[in-house]
Amino acid sequence: MDQTTEDPRSGWCHWHKGPSGTAVLVQVIEQNSGPGAALYACAPCREQRRLTPLAEQPDEVAYRAYLGHTAECTGCGRAGRCEDGARLWEAYRGALAALPA
Ligand SMILES: [Zn+2]
Ligand SMILES: [Zn+2]
Repeated sequence: MDQTTEDPRSGWCHWHKGPSGTAVLVQVIEQNSGPGAALYACAPCREQRRLTPLAEQPDEVAYRAYLGHTAECTGCGRAGRCEDGARLWEAYRGALAALPA
């Protein structure tokens, strides 16, 4: 078996509602109950609708930076956050607040 790094859920574009080899996760719709609905868009649709892959959105980038820091930082933990951790957290909160509602 060949190893594949492809997300098994990708391959479908929710914008043109058809299969696509370039579809990536662009939006997760939060729901009150159960897991949120994930929406995928292919490259042409992303270009046309100016969609940004979720992995490249500022809040997502900031959140991963924060997670990456806390994973290695001994000053961040249950007791609280170190200065760097707090700054990364604020950056994440700021990116979230800047998102269109
Ligand atoms: Zn599409
Ligand atoms: Zn820290």
